Amino acid sequence: MLRPDGDGFVECLDGHRHWGRFGAAGLLLSDPERGVLLQHRAWWTHHGGTWALPGGAVNSDETAWAAATREADEEADIPGDAVRPLSSWTVDHGGWTYTTLLAQTVRPVEATVMNAESDELRWVPVDEVADYKLHQDFALAWPELLPELGRELILVVDGANVVGSRPDGWWRDRPGAARRLRDQLAGLPRQGLALTGEWSWWPRVVLVVEGQARETEPVADVEVISATRDGDSTIVDTVRSLRTKRPQDRITVVTADRELRERVTAEGATHLGPNTLLGALEQHQGGSSNNNG
Ligand SMILES: [Zn+2]
Repeated sequence: MLRPDGDGFVECLDGHRHWGRFGAAGLLLSDPERGVLLQHRAWWTHHGGTWALPGGAVNSDETAWAAATREADEEADIPGDAVRPLSSWTVDHGGWTYTTLLAQTVRPVEATVMNAESDELRWVPVDEVADYKLHQDFALAWPELLPELGRELILVVDGANVVGSRPDGWWRDRPGAARRLRDQLAGLPRQGLALTGEWSWWPRVVLVVEGQARETEPVADVEVISATRDGDSTIVDTVRSLRTKRPQDRITVVTADRELRERVTAEGATHLGPNTLLGALEQHQGGSSNNNG
């Protein structure tokens, strides 16, 4: 078997020695019943004897998500299909990055020590994590990660506003333009969406349609809400009901409409411009076609 090309130490700009020629990634897996999964690192490993996350080096042909789930499978027997990504946080040291993938179990899984890198795997209640002897980098990251555990991003997309933000002839076929937008959005819950340099999200997507686009059908990864009155009021109502049902989640409304932005901000949501969303979608679709070709 070929040695994975990510294996190896590198020195970052701060002069630390780190594992992973293309960076490293770890899986912060939370389970509503049991807490988070920690790995007690074998004494002979780098920073051995401390508690940290299952994970390891990213290979050149892998995403951080692929690497973290592969390592969790190899080290802890966590099947990839039992895990759903919610978000990721990347710390850039200059020349080396570490990405923490925040994920949730979708069914009960047992964690089993599978190789010599771990002495023990343990589900730890969230409020006890800080009492463990943690790996120094994980200890520094924990306060940043803790409030994001189990938190989802829900994107509420103002369909008419986003479709109307680009003069691509949408006015000749409004239902068709809404369907195209819906199909573009459908990739997000699996591909993820980088919103800042540090944070990416695997969002739930709610598309609000109105007028001639009202008959748009939902698809597997996109919920569609058809506005019975004006679209803006439906969006505000949608945000309000999501806030009540899922108070821990982030709700972001995609619209350029200034008045609507103010109304949803008052309801506790944030907002994002259509061009930011479309730019991220196109970049991703361009990226994946390069990978395939
Ligand atoms: Zn460093």
